Amino acid sequence: KEKIGVLALQGAVREHLNLFHKLGVEAIAVKRREQLDEMDGLVIPGGESTAIGKLIRQYDLRNPIMDFYAKGKPVFGTCAGLILIAKHIAENDEAHLPLLDVTVQRNAFGRQVDSFEADLPIKGVAEDFRAVFIRAPLITSVGDDVDVLSTVRDQVVAVQQGNLLGISFHPELTDDTRLHAYFLSMVQKAIEKLS
Ligand code: GLN
Repeated sequence: KEKIGVLALQGAVREHLNLFHKLGVEAIAVKRREQLDEMDGLVIPGGESTAIGKLIRQYDLRNPIMDFYAKGKPVFGTCAGLILIAKHIAENDEAHLPLLDVTVQRNAFGRQVDSFEADLPIKGVAEDFRAVFIRAPLITSVGDDVDVLSTVRDQVVAVQQGNLLGISFHPELTDDTRLHAYFLSMVQKAIEKLS
């Protein structure tokens, strides 16, 4: 039976756990590196990426998370979590966990409007997903191996690259479990491959 960890340093942790529980999946708040070994997939939630990034370094979680992914286990970053797994952050020299081959720009919608909602088609997931954007990052460029799953106002807001899923909105703030179910299917495929 699969176990999914939600990185629990700061941000919308409880909401992600609730959605996995709603799907009948075991999901656990992860704070320590030892806990990662028992997980089959990891969610990095929304919140404040600078704060979460600092705590990742403070708790010595950077290399353990990079190794977790290198072992073939899926990672799902939402909003601040997307910023944390991006290889490139606009106007920043250093990435936090350079995994996903994209460039993100923080607070990119913030200049026009801080927060908004939109019903989006997400490839392979849903035709009408209610997406909640809160000081959301934008994906301004994607590498060759990155699959664009959704756009809004001609801007990329959801991508997948193999075992990495990155989205700029907050799927955990609605009660729609379809994106979490999609990540779960990525985790199940990864378990099959690894066994
Ligand atoms: N603006 C936040 C950041 O840059 C992300 C916003 C969010 O996760 N809701 O970290």
